[in-house]
Amino acid sequence: MRRTFRLGRIYGIPVSIHPSFALVLLFVALDQRRMGGGGPSAFAFALLLVLLVFACVVLHELGHSFMAMHYGIRVHGITLWPMGGVAIMEQVPTRPSAETLVAIAGPAVNLAIAVALVPILVGYGLVQGYVGIGDYVAEVAGGASLATLLGYLVLVNLMLVVFNAIPAFPLDGGRVFRAGLSALIGRERGTRVAVLTGQALALVFLIVGFRYAYWSLLLVGAFVLVGAHVEGRTVRLESAMRRLRVGQFALWDRGGIAPWHPVTYALRGGPRDVAVTDGGRVVGMLWRSQLLQAINGGGRDRTVEELMDRDVVTVAADESVYDVQQRMHASNRWAMPVVEDGQYRGIFTAERFVHVHRHLGASTAWSGGKSGGFAQALGATVRGWVR
Ligand SMILES: [Zn+2]
Repeated sequence: MRRTFRLGRIYGIPVSIHPSFALVLLFVALDQRRMGGGGPSAFAFALLLVLLVFACVVLHELGHSFMAMHYGIRVHGITLWPMGGVAIMEQVPTRPSAETLVAIAGPAVNLAIAVALVPILVGYGLVQGYVGIGDYVAEVAGGASLATLLGYLVLVNLMLVVFNAIPAFPLDGGRVFRAGLSALIGRERGTRVAVLTGQALALVFLIVGFRYAYWSLLLVGAFVLVGAHVEGRTVRLESAMRRLRVGQFALWDRGGIAPWHPVTYALRGGPRDVAVTDGGRVVGMLWRSQLLQAINGGGRDRTVEELMDRDVVTVAADESVYDVQQRMHASNRWAMPVVEDGQYRGIFTAERFVHVHRHLGASTAWSGGKSGGFAQALGATVRGWVR
């Protein structure tokens, strides 16, 4: 289930909800029944609590998002899952100071909420005429009152701070830990140490969780185990991609197409993005979408020159695959002509990444185990999670 429902936009950031969120509502209803009912008003109260807790989660993710945007990183959106929120960012900041600030901006919001709510909670207690602390604590812990609501929100926000302080991926504490290590021993080795620490912690959580049948600890253990694995894999892949030269993966498509060719000539071998070359030099790009539009619009007899995009962005053959991928993202172009000494050497497209991945998968230096599709899908979920 990939589809999510858009709730709205906050400062231009789309906020969506995953359909599995319905499970939370079901859980609230079942919990109410188990607690002996209490009628529709108790259910409404529990629902209000859940909604407020998720509002705090959204604010946490907005904290990360605003800090990331401050560092020029695009935020694609925030998605709410039953277990928390995900802020989906274009990339993870690689500078240690930036990664640290983006990571702590989330829990900092929850700390601020808790600190802001305490005076209100105390003030409310005074207005209600509670003199003994014990009585008031009993009131906060009990029934459906404003005091219960405030007390619960303070507790939840503090728990979010403590939970995220655990130095393990994919929690915020894991990112702060990695950023600190990166500054000392470099990003790749820093990540390796952070991943191992996270896995060791996860093992402790799993053992204690099994031993004392503490199910939420088991869940956290599994969550951290997958998160650490995925983060390690991502950074290994990223480092490997920095070492590979894009020229090695460029596709030699018979030297592209000439400006004087009729556009129908570009359809040989199926419509695709083609580089336009003149005497070995790249002079433009003929995009697949424009080509198809022209052909469908009755422009079959036009020449390539009339249709081509002259605003051409080329990459040098010795640039790293990683840098090229970043440039593709930034410019939103998914095909780039590769040049060497000003001469066209072939095209690098988004599909070429499949070859890059196959190449990396085959080399033993990188392959950290070929995990199945399920672990990868789960990992992709966890990776974005508490980012
Ligand atoms: Zn976070």
